[in-house]
Amino acid sequence: MFAIDCPRHGSTVLLNLSDIERIDNTSRGIEVHYICSCGHHGLWLTGRR
Ligand SMILES: [Zn+2]
Repeated sequence: MFAIDCPRHGSTVLLNLSDIERIDNTSRGIEVHYICSCGHHGLWLTGRR
């Protein structure tokens, strides 16, 4: 589970790994593309190196 700030919910939402659409390893860090339970597509940047 991981926590994101969903603008549609207007709050912090806990998502499961199954809500992850795609993971990209970029120079900015690890981009986690997720789909919130409300249907919002968002981007979570983590794992900066
Ligand atoms: Zn949401």
